[in-house]
Amino acid sequence: MTFATLGLIEPLLRSLETLGYQTPTPVQAQAIPAVLAGRDLMAAAQTGTGKTAGFALPLLQLLAMEGPKVTANSVRALILVPTRELAEQVHEAVRQYAENLPLRTYAVYGGVSINPQMMKLRSGVDLLVATPGRLLDLFRQNALKFNQLQTLVLDEADRMLDLGFSEELANIYRALPKKRQTLLFSATFSDDIRLLAGQMLNDPLSIEVSPRNVAANTVKQWIVTVDKKRKPELFVHLMRKGKWKQVLVFAKTRNGVDALVEKLQGLGINADGIHGDKPQATRQRALDRFKASEVQILVATDVAARGLDIEDLPLVVNFDLPIVAEDYIHRIGRTGRAGSTGEAISLVCADEVNLLSAIEMLTRQTLTRQNEPDFEPEHRVPDTDASGQVVKKPKKPKKPKVSGGGGGKRNLGKWVDSGEVAPAEPSIKPVRKVPVFNTGPRKRKP
Ligand code: AMP
Repeated sequence: MTFATLGLIEPLLRSLETLGYQTPTPVQAQAIPAVLAGRDLMAAAQTGTGKTAGFALPLLQLLAMEGPKVTANSVRALILVPTRELAEQVHEAVRQYAENLPLRTYAVYGGVSINPQMMKLRSGVDLLVATPGRLLDLFRQNALKFNQLQTLVLDEADRMLDLGFSEELANIYRALPKKRQTLLFSATFSDDIRLLAGQMLNDPLSIEVSPRNVAANTVKQWIVTVDKKRKPELFVHLMRKGKWKQVLVFAKTRNGVDALVEKLQGLGINADGIHGDKPQATRQRALDRFKASEVQILVATDVAARGLDIEDLPLVVNFDLPIVAEDYIHRIGRTGRAGSTGEAISLVCADEVNLLSAIEMLTRQTLTRQNEPDFEPEHRVPDTDASGQVVKKPKKPKKPKVSGGGGGKRNLGKWVDSGEVAPAEPSIKPVRKVPVFNTGPRKRKP
């Protein structure tokens, strides 16, 4: 199969030739003809599958071939994405695909001045990539009209709900023309996503290119158990031992990112960090330098790193496990992209056992443990498996009470195997965060 047989026009085929895309990926093979035929789409596709081209190519073709010329402050196709970085990335891909077409494309997102964006929108844009919050700001300030809108794409829809954008999405949805084509892409399909799809899509074609909720199998995944306080030391040890060249590292919090970057820089390691507290320009610069291999270790929170496409990234390290199990799939999706292989290593401490269990349940696999000599944890991480069970080691029987001698009652306390975590919880259940659609205020970004 070729891109030409999927029905793409010559100017797009030329762009693809320049980019070196020879064969359509499975998601492209299914999505391109369906979008060209005007169908709504509900696609389960992770990043790395080529989904951006899957929706952008036919969309650009429809914009070039059909419909009126765009008028002032109008937009004909809208791609909603959860983060600024992803907006830039998707727009960059769109720009490359549209190289030989007379179309105007643009990206808007928060964290930067709104005025230049308002100016740019004055003459109208054929295809706009946007984050939900900034899009609404622009709409409310009359910088944008949706009367010409013919297609809406929700990219990484699950992530938009996770980030608390459900209210913004509902407001945007109300402002859009009812007659339009809608394409929904999501790596995972929770009940909330299905609800959203039910509201927004009209007789959609369902596409599923990888089994539901299963992590990319081109990524070799394993964990190293370690005590929490020794994680930085273990990271540096593994880095030196494995002669790691370029690594994307995920930490749970902004403070965690800063602390690790500081520690690495203190050791003379070329590291930088991105998180939601940093200005957009700083984040983009760190990312660009990482992509250009000028920075060796990039430490990021989930929000900042969402959907980033970094060519041939060989290794992702989870310095902390994610709170939301689905994020694990997104994180490791940064490597092993477009057919190449990658590795994902997670440093896991005892109090992350519930998170580990939730990840194993979601990905339906028990992650291999490779213990690192000299780093075996004092607080053992209980065994887990893909059934969601946290397997505790059977406790040794209590020593019989010694009668007599010592005089009076002796409180022996709760005896715990030296290698085991004190069993404080009566039962350990995997933690799963359930995003809520259409309720409550927006959550703080990590
Ligand atoms: P995506 O899943 O859209 O983020 O795409 C992942 C990566 O695959 C990007 O770097 C794309 O440029 C690349 N890519 C997408 N489609 C193809 C293709 N058909 N052939 C080769 N590379 C592709």
